[in-house]
Parts: sequence; structure tokens; C-alpha cells
Amino acid sequence: MVQLCHDAGAKPVHAERIVASLFRHYNSDMEAIPDLPKILRDYLATHTSIFEPECTALQQAEDGTRKLLLKMPDGKEVETVLIQGPGRLTQCISTQVGCAVGCTFCLTATAGLTRNLSAAEMAAQVIAGQKVGDYQVRNLVLMGMGEPLHNYDEVSRFLSIAANPKGMAFSPNRITLSTSGLVPGIYKMIEDRLPCNLAVSLNATTDEVRDRVIPINKKYPIHELLKAVRDYIKARGNKRVLIEYVMLAGVNDSLEDARRLCQLVEGMGCTVNLLPFNAFAGSPYKSPSDAAVSAFRDILVKAKIIAVVRSSRGNDISAACGQLKTEVALRRKSKI
Ligand code: SAH
Ligand code: SF4
Repeated sequence: MVQLCHDAGAKPVHAERIVASLFRHYNSDMEAIPDLPKILRDYLATHTSIFEPECTALQQAEDGTRKLLLKMPDGKEVETVLIQGPGRLTQCISTQVGCAVGCTFCLTATAGLTRNLSAAEMAAQVIAGQKVGDYQVRNLVLMGMGEPLHNYDEVSRFLSIAANPKGMAFSPNRITLSTSGLVPGIYKMIEDRLPCNLAVSLNATTDEVRDRVIPINKKYPIHELLKAVRDYIKARGNKRVLIEYVMLAGVNDSLEDARRLCQLVEGMGCTVNLLPFNAFAGSPYKSPSDAAVSAFRDILVKAKIIAVVRSSRGNDISAACGQLKTEVALRRKSKI
């Protein structure tokens, strides 16, 4: 933006005001920004364009969770979800159209990867969310469609807007990036000190099972992945990491799994998030019983591991974890 002001022949000091208007006040009308020199207004009008995706669907679930379908300039649709908390919102951001990882329990995986989203397209999701929400969006989770570390550069650019005090001004502690376990990407996060928390989808306690549910485990097996996580925690000054664990009935929800999980994360100082599988039509997996989930959790708690069962939100509008898939993609699939 500073460069833009310079190119327009205006002072760089105006850059800050434009950025604040776009990213903190969610106002994209340059005319409404006070005190911009005419030369700069004219330059912006002729040399830049404001990108605002069209909201093609807005659904609200009984629990207040809202799902927005946003149409990008090339017609591709992306979902973002607003999850209501007490006096605040958490927004789930998509980082890709589809996903290439191919986890066998995930609905997004069934369509494969269409393309990466740009940093602007991620920022546009936040702006759209802030505009429809009753409360301010306080937390961002990169847990929508896509594998964020497969789109590292654009995700990193987006985070530099989201976490910049002069940009969207989210606290880096209130942004969480979730990965299926791309080891080189985790080391890159350490190197770049990416301004966010790390969440890792472990989802299994043996390589035999993890190979089946997350195919990239064959490339980055459990011990390599957890070594990277431990290195991350150390390098980031004992930063607490979130270990996500999708529970699939009869596949990874046994008490032996719970005990193995305790051993795997021993001394790590992590929080474990248990996600009972959200079933969808055509999936080979089943959701675990409530009893299986609490017995599993009890074992972790006894081993002094903080374990939270993530209640599924927005189930009635398919906005829950792993259910983000556009109607467009579903329609396309039904034609095949
Ligand atoms: N690609 C990233 C982030 C998006 S998925 C990742 O895999 O971590 C966000 C979370 O939803 C992951 O922990 C994933 O394991 C979980 N998930 C995917 N499908 C699910 C389903 N059907 N039920 C419950 N959780 C699911
Ligand atoms: Fe991709 Fe995450 Fe779904 Fe796996 S769980 S297919 S990494 S979005």
C-alpha cells in the first residue's frame, strides 16, 4: 500500500488509513475515507479494483452457527462458517477449493483439489464474516476446506494481514492453523515464526491405521510428525499445541488407542481435541457412541492430559467439521 501511495505521487502516510479502512472498518468505499488527496483517489480508482466476493447462500443452524457460501471471481464457491460463542464469534476459514490430501473420513476430500485460494480470498472471507455477524469475529481457525500448509505462501500472506495490528489486528493467539501433518510445512512455520497457533490432526495412534485414514502418513509417519510438533513447541517457547483426534467407531476409538495416545503425547503439554466423526452419506465410517467418547476421554484425563470433546456445531446445515463442501460440487458429483 505504501508502494501504491508512492506510485500515485502521494505521501506513504496515507497507506495506513487505507489499510485501516479496508481491514479494520470493513469499508471498501475509497470515497468514504476522509482526507485522502485527490491525486491518490484518482490513482486508486484507475489502478486498483476492490474484490468483494458475492455471498450466494447464507444458512443458519439451530445452534446459531452460520454458513456463508462465497463466490470468487472465477465462479468457484468457497464456504466459511461462523460459530457463535458467548459474546463473540469464531470463524472457520477455507484455504483451498477442495483438498489434495484425500483423508478417507473427510467430505472435502471427495472432490479433490480444484485450486489454492489467494490471501485476498481468505481476507475476503473474514470481511464477509464480520459483515454478517451480530458480534465481532474474535477467533480465526484455518480449519475449513483445504490443507493450509499445501498453500503456504498465500496462507502466510493472509496471516500477515490478519495478525498485523495495523491490518485486521487479530491477536496471533486467537488464530489457529490446522494441518493434517505436513512435516516440512511445520518446520517452515518455525522458521518464519508464523503468527498463529498450531493444531495437528493426528487421528490415529498407529501408522497402520493412520496410513489408511490420512494417506500422507506414508510420507510423514507418526514419529516424524510428532518430532516436528515437539520441535515446534520447543522453538516457540513451550507454545501449547492442539492435537486433533477424529474418533471413528471401531477404527481408532478403543481404550488401547487412548492409552497409546497418552504415550505418544507424553510430556508434550498439548491439548487434545476429540472430534466424534460427523457422518455423511456414502462414508465407510461410523460415529462413536457417547460412552466410547467419554471412556476414551477419561483415560486421557487420568494421564493428566487436557482433553476436550469438540461438540459438533451446525450439523443441520452441514457446517460441521469435514462437511464443508459446496452444493455446486455435490451437484457435479451426482451427475457423474
Ligand atoms: N486440512 C486441515 C484443516 C481442515 S480439516 C486438517 O486436516 O487438519 C479440520 C479438522 O476437521 C481436522 O482435524 C480433520 O481431521 C477434521 N475432520 C475432517 N472430516 C471430519 C469428519 N467427517 N468428522 C469430524 N472431523 C472431521
Ligand atoms: Fe484435506 Fe483436512 Fe479434509 Fe484431510 S481432513 S482431506 S487434510 S481438509
